[in-house]
Amino acid sequence: MERREPPTEPRRRPPNGALAEALFALAEHEPPGDRRVALLKAGYAAFDTPDGGRRAALAAAAPWLRPMVEQLAACPSEDSLAAAVQRLAAGEPARRRATRERYLSRAEVAGVLAAGPPELHPDRMRGAAHWHTTDSDGKAALETMARACLRRGFAWSLVTDHSRGLEVASGLDAEGLRLQRGRIDRWNHAHGDEHAVVQGLEVEILEDGTLDVPRGERLEVACVAAAVHRLFDPDRDQTDRLLRAVSTPQVHVLAHPRGRHFHYRSGLRARWERVFAACAERGVAVEINGFPRRQDLDWELARLAVDAGCDILLASDAHAPRHLEFDHYAAAIAIKAEVPRDRILNVMHADELEVWLGDR
Ligand SMILES: [Zn+2]
Ligand SMILES: [Zn+2]
Repeated sequence: MERREPPTEPRRRPPNGALAEALFALAEHEPPGDRRVALLKAGYAAFDTPDGGRRAALAAAAPWLRPMVEQLAACPSEDSLAAAVQRLAAGEPARRRATRERYLSRAEVAGVLAAGPPELHPDRMRGAAHWHTTDSDGKAALETMARACLRRGFAWSLVTDHSRGLEVASGLDAEGLRLQRGRIDRWNHAHGDEHAVVQGLEVEILEDGTLDVPRGERLEVACVAAAVHRLFDPDRDQTDRLLRAVSTPQVHVLAHPRGRHFHYRSGLRARWERVFAACAERGVAVEINGFPRRQDLDWELARLAVDAGCDILLASDAHAPRHLEFDHYAAAIAIKAEVPRDRILNVMHADELEVWLGDR
């Protein structure tokens, strides 16, 4: 049975993110197999819970791992936690640490939003951007997603399914786009006063910086978000690839600019000042993608984008209705980056967004 702790002396525990990082670091010292998977699972549980990280990690941990979780969770400071990891890992440094830097745990997101300026809270946004439907790799139909956005209080939303060219997703071709437009028109005809859906498309930035959708087809959708999903090549500077992409006519947004993925890859290497300067000059907005494993841009690069003069789009990258709340991560990153409210496209009224999109 768990011992009751006296309310006057709350036990000091490491923050969820620090506990998770300790478990991820220890996972790196295990060869591929059950032990590594168990450590990762416990780490993700602590990282993704809105409540106590210790309890979530224990609930997810295999029996052999529980004493280790208890030992880590008992560390009263991050220093003692780091020392415990060093001991357990026999002094080897964590090699993949860089792939986990500048990410927020779910508990940290809640803390940042609670302490941040109310005008940057997701509840104060008018538009929900960048979500997917069963027309590409999403789990819910367009109407279901639109209804979920409406229920969350948004006046408009931007659907951005993948283009057909993307190999990892069954995307939309010209005909699919046309059919989707028909459904959006029907939705807007019936519900547009409450919640207007804007058709976008997430297109692929190819290795040479060209896009996988021809200009004629791009012109048919209201908003084009360009993004990299493959060929990250960490040894190559990707500035020219991104410059070419954002300088292409009829591109509105640079989506998840780095393409980083928590614990797996740091994403593209580029001279970001130049990329963001080009975005600002062309009027291309830069996305803060709140999908928890992406968190792309992070707050340091988001700050750089703001300093360069870029507009910012907060995105959930939702693939199901419950993912729409990932805009909380995006808003928390915007708060940490001190993005001014008037630079955020999501605060616009639907007609203002239409003007913004039409200008590009
Ligand atoms: Zn994407
Ligand atoms: Zn997406």
